[in-house]
Amino acid sequence: MKKMSSAEVRQMFLDFFKSKGHTIEPSASLIPKNDPTLLWINSGVATLKKYFDGEVIPKNPRLVSAQKSIRTNDIENVGRTARHQTFFEMLGNFSVGDYFKKEAIAWAWELLTSPDWFGFDPEKLFITVYPKDDDAYEIWRQQGIKADHIFKNEDNFWDIGVGPSGPDSEIFYDRGQENNDVAENDPENYPGGENARYLEIWNIVFSQFNHLPDGRFVDQPHKNIDTGMGLERIVSIIQDAPTNFETDLFLPIIRATEKISQQKNYNDNQADDVAFKIIADHARAVTFAIGDGAIPSNEGRGYVLRRLIRRAVLNGGKLGIRQAFLYKLVPVVGKIMQSYYPEILEQQDFIQKVIRTEEERFADTLSDGLELLNQEIAQVKKSGSSVLSGQAAFRLFDTYGFPYELTVESAQEHGLSVDKAGFATEMEKQKERARQAQGHQQSMSMQNQLLMSIKTASQFIGYDCYSSDQCILKNIISDNQAVDQLDSGAAQLIFDQTPFYAEMGGQVADVGIIKDTNGNVVAEVEDVQHAPNGQNLHFVNVKAPIKLNERYCLEIDVTFRQKVRRNHTATHLLDQALRNVLGPHTHQAGSLVEPDYLRFDFTSLEKVTDQQLAQIEQIVNEQIWKEIPVQTIETDLESAKKMGAIALFDNKYGDQVRVVKISDFSLELCGGTHVANTAEIGLFKITNETSTGAGVRRITAVTSQEAWQYYEQQVAILNSVQNQLKVAQVKDIPNKVEQLNAELKATQKQLENLQTQLVQKQASGILDQVEQIGSWQLTAAITPVKNMKELRQIADDWKNQGKSDILILGAKNGAKANLLVAANQKAIAAGLTAGTLIKQIAPEIDGGGGGRDQLAQAGGKNPAGLQAALQLAKKLLQEA
Ligand code: ATP
Ligand code: MG
Repeated sequence: MKKMSSAEVRQMFLDFFKSKGHTIEPSASLIPKNDPTLLWINSGVATLKKYFDGEVIPKNPRLVSAQKSIRTNDIENVGRTARHQTFFEMLGNFSVGDYFKKEAIAWAWELLTSPDWFGFDPEKLFITVYPKDDDAYEIWRQQGIKADHIFKNEDNFWDIGVGPSGPDSEIFYDRGQENNDVAENDPENYPGGENARYLEIWNIVFSQFNHLPDGRFVDQPHKNIDTGMGLERIVSIIQDAPTNFETDLFLPIIRATEKISQQKNYNDNQADDVAFKIIADHARAVTFAIGDGAIPSNEGRGYVLRRLIRRAVLNGGKLGIRQAFLYKLVPVVGKIMQSYYPEILEQQDFIQKVIRTEEERFADTLSDGLELLNQEIAQVKKSGSSVLSGQAAFRLFDTYGFPYELTVESAQEHGLSVDKAGFATEMEKQKERARQAQGHQQSMSMQNQLLMSIKTASQFIGYDCYSSDQCILKNIISDNQAVDQLDSGAAQLIFDQTPFYAEMGGQVADVGIIKDTNGNVVAEVEDVQHAPNGQNLHFVNVKAPIKLNERYCLEIDVTFRQKVRRNHTATHLLDQALRNVLGPHTHQAGSLVEPDYLRFDFTSLEKVTDQQLAQIEQIVNEQIWKEIPVQTIETDLESAKKMGAIALFDNKYGDQVRVVKISDFSLELCGGTHVANTAEIGLFKITNETSTGAGVRRITAVTSQEAWQYYEQQVAILNSVQNQLKVAQVKDIPNKVEQLNAELKATQKQLENLQTQLVQKQASGILDQVEQIGSWQLTAAITPVKNMKELRQIADDWKNQGKSDILILGAKNGAKANLLVAANQKAIAAGLTAGTLIKQIAPEIDGGGGGRDQLAQAGGKNPAGLQAALQLAKKLLQEA
């Protein structure tokens, strides 16, 4: 066995299958495209579904890839087993209806054991097969594998519900009893059992059945091969590492973490080693996930990311790391993976910024969480219990990212335990919610045999031709049947050539009509999609009889197309303008080009400011005013990349690509239709900027006629405002509004003054009313004032005038009531203080209050009781 670096191992796998006629597929984005059933790409085959379910037929049926994968269901295994990561690379070879078991098995064996390739000792390799799969068993035996190295196992059947399924074979590497975690005679000690000795390195799936919705398994017309080998595992064997983590894929990250920690070292003790491994694993996972456009948030992918970052931070805490640190590992990850994934270092700044922000934010949450935890603990203690509830532990876990063990530890420090079963119940509920949110696991549609079998050549001629009367009708599909002719109704048509654009790259399909040679309309085209073999498939409504092999005139709706192409070119300009203004890390995250508007999604952590939007708009419009000719260049992918063309990472491009060039401003790979000159766009206007979820912003914009209409509407609104304000010109509106505002303010001030005067006037009337109650002079009234402040003003006047011994005022304020009592020296000396008096009468207004001897006030909820309060006061004075 040769010593090799991980980069060499990856390359050797790809080279081996290349030598067997396979095309290398680049690693697709971790974020699934057009597949709502998957949160993350979790295997090589997950990115190739469209080939396996027959939606698209690959140029070469033999494919090989090293595919980035994330499996969050292995998260608890990370650091505890030798072989699991959340992020790993899956090496795989694939046959789409081409070779089957014989070649797949022979090549796997050759790659693993040939001295020219990996050169493993055959004695160390063990195989499992499905018990009924005699073919696979025989083929393995033919490679020279001894019978005692092949195990039959019922589990070796790959089936994920409706769709392709079949038996599989797994390959194990024997790491020797000295590396085992179970005893030699343990019942789990066999290839495929729960043990550390027999390491599963490769799974080869023989996809030969179609699992039907009614539960039957029928032979698939096209038998497929799909395999998966974990790069980290194979490298651990080649580099003779005890676990995946002691390989060149992880050690530099672990070393960097040691440096940051300064307290702890790897291999000091087992608990710390787990922390080091979790950090190394999560650093890779979050770096790659963010590199592919995911952003931490509270739901879906973003939530996974958030949890990974939090787990890493908490594990950093175990190593004595108190500051944000995970982001510092991004360049280390980038360097390790540079040869195959240069995009990490290219986006390093952005990825670091996202991680750092999240780490810092978590530091805040963490202290909130600790506070909550301490409160919960205090409460449990106070109640005399010794158990922290499962709900509390779960809330800490779910909201603050506290791992269960951390809560248990903290509780133990206070002599408490945690209700484990209660926690598990909450966890289960959460999982159920997640399952329901994810919906059905199955998206592989059934192979559409009819469409797949159609191999007719069909050419798209619509880049500069809008109508052609030379189109021969080659296929008519009606009700899922191929027919020779059709009188009416819905149908799908393929012609030898067509000017109709099929929906692609966010650009909607053309609409239009089909005429016969006499100029009569025979069908209306409502939609156009790509058939599995690439032809443009016209979804039509047939109006008059049509027949195979006849000549027809295909006419697209030119106005529709013109609008679409203006919006498409404007989208390219917008894409570049965004990068210019927001920075080169801004990724496109989705795009829609309609005739009436365009919509563009892109990654950005922050809202785009109004100022930036104005800047973006200006840049796009400047390119329009420059009247730049739009060039399209047909070339190969390599040259296009050399030219610096922007390509979406995850889009699969053929060998021949089309590059759309707008002078030096924009260069993008694109198959869409564009204007000949930017001047045709006329005008560009952003109509909205919003968020579509975590880290993704959406801009909608309009061009030409729609942009003009947009401005017209704005002007109409201004005109109506102008009329209402009665100003001569629109430009006078701001002045007028300012003036009106000033007037309004002045009027309000005046009103306030008048109200104060009114209160004073009424007050003077009140103060003149003095009653003799027993031996006391009393001034008492219910006043129309609105608040306590005004009541106090009256009390001030009363004090200055000195006309009576006691003042009692009431006021109604909506549903509330206020009371005020004041007393002079004579009353106070006799023990009649404002404070005692108000305490006695306040209950009448359902309130309470108090104050000093001289002045006391109360608020209550029962204004109807004011009169009674006054009566009660009189009674009290009489008795005093
Ligand atoms: P295991 O039982 O060890 O978890 P699996 O049966 O889940 O493996 P498959 O789904 O068959 O694995 O995936 C194919 C290959 O991908 C495995 O043979 C292994 O080499 C690799 N692999 C799977 N899961 C992981 C993981 N979490 N980390 C690293 N490699 C993995
Ligand atoms: Mg697994």
